[in-house]
Amino acid sequence: MNFNNINFDTYLKNYPDANGYFGKYGGAYIAPELKAAMDEITTAYFTICKSSKFISELRRIRREFQGRPTPVSYLERLSGSLGNVQLYVKREDLNHTGAHKLNHCMGEALLAKYMGKKKVIAETGAGQHGVALATAAAYFGLECDIYMGAVDIKKQAPNVARMKILGANVIEVTDGLATLKEAVDAAFTAYSKEYKDCIYCIGSVVGPHPFPMMVRDFQSVVGIEAREQFMEMTGELPDAVVACVGGGSNAAGMFAGFLNDPVDIYGVEPLGRGPKLGDHAASLQYGTEGVMHGFNSIMLKDENGEPAPVYSVASGLDYPSSGPEHAFLHELGRVKYDVVDDEETINAFFTLSRMEGIIPAIESSHAVAYAMKLAKKMGKGSILINLSGRGDKDMDYIIENYGIR
Ligand SMILES: *Cc1c(COP(=O)(O)O)cnc(C)c1O
Repeated sequence: MNFNNINFDTYLKNYPDANGYFGKYGGAYIAPELKAAMDEITTAYFTICKSSKFISELRRIRREFQGRPTPVSYLERLSGSLGNVQLYVKREDLNHTGAHKLNHCMGEALLAKYMGKKKVIAETGAGQHGVALATAAAYFGLECDIYMGAVDIKKQAPNVARMKILGANVIEVTDGLATLKEAVDAAFTAYSKEYKDCIYCIGSVVGPHPFPMMVRDFQSVVGIEAREQFMEMTGELPDAVVACVGGGSNAAGMFAGFLNDPVDIYGVEPLGRGPKLGDHAASLQYGTEGVMHGFNSIMLKDENGEPAPVYSVASGLDYPSSGPEHAFLHELGRVKYDVVDDEETINAFFTLSRMEGIIPAIESSHAVAYAMKLAKKMGKGSILINLSGRGDKDMDYIIENYGIR
């Protein structure tokens, strides 16, 4: 399929280019000492991860350990309540550890093992990526250092406990505001000293090349499975596909299955409390081009051009940029990026729980909320939603802040 002069038959092969660019977005803006480390990972990715041995081992792990393929479920009662549009969800909430993040963590950790590395390193904000990576490290017998801001450690006690039980070292970062940004800096600094023995495992389709490509490719299992399952269930393609976008990994994986199809694709960003800077994390909607965390993309900046403080009710969407591929697909118009606010999200959280017996993650509730609005607008047809994770982690927060609705 051709769209805006891009041939989508060969898109996944051709994007990013050899230097990690999707159009003008992406690349690797890193300190010289990390350049060698990234090149090593890129080379290893193209040789090891494309080998049939690696592919069949990852397939087996996905089946026997992660519980893949995750099903696609038809939302009969919710669809009925909205009119004539049929809604379906891809159940990444049923993936081991309760979200899509394990899809790329198992891939990254298996690559580390093949490369002969002893350790994986990462930062974490809310702790979801840290838990997924600690799980993968335990499975492969790798050491695992997770850098986490002191403020986040206090806020996310259950995830800190999970990481420790799984055998990870949670390293407290006390610089600056002691949250995600400082944790990223500390993890990169540690990595530049230790890269001979370890690899850095990024938690989304962000960071320097090759991570946006590698994480997308590992996550594309979601879109490939979902397309096949949807076709088998209905005999046709969905009219629309919807996913929430933080860094953008669950969306990139889902979209990869449908970019070459005549399907409308929607990425949903968090509008939070409203459009004022600091009240949301809708970077593609309100941001401008810039470089942060090693890549060029669209980002939310403060008056000094630094990454702006952002807010979302979903801690996993709380990031001032999105992966370079999303910036590119946005510019092309192949994917439409839109927003929902906290209120719509919390309503969708309770609606899906009550009508379908599925408690969604607050992140995923953004996609559900958008699909509910879209269904009313479309009037007929079908929508496939990526349900990126389950909401168990969010229940205390919801009860405390919103009560039972
Ligand atoms: C981390 C997380 C997200 C956001 O990350 P992406 O890279 O944008 O997918 C979305 N949903 C859940 C359940 C998460 O844990």
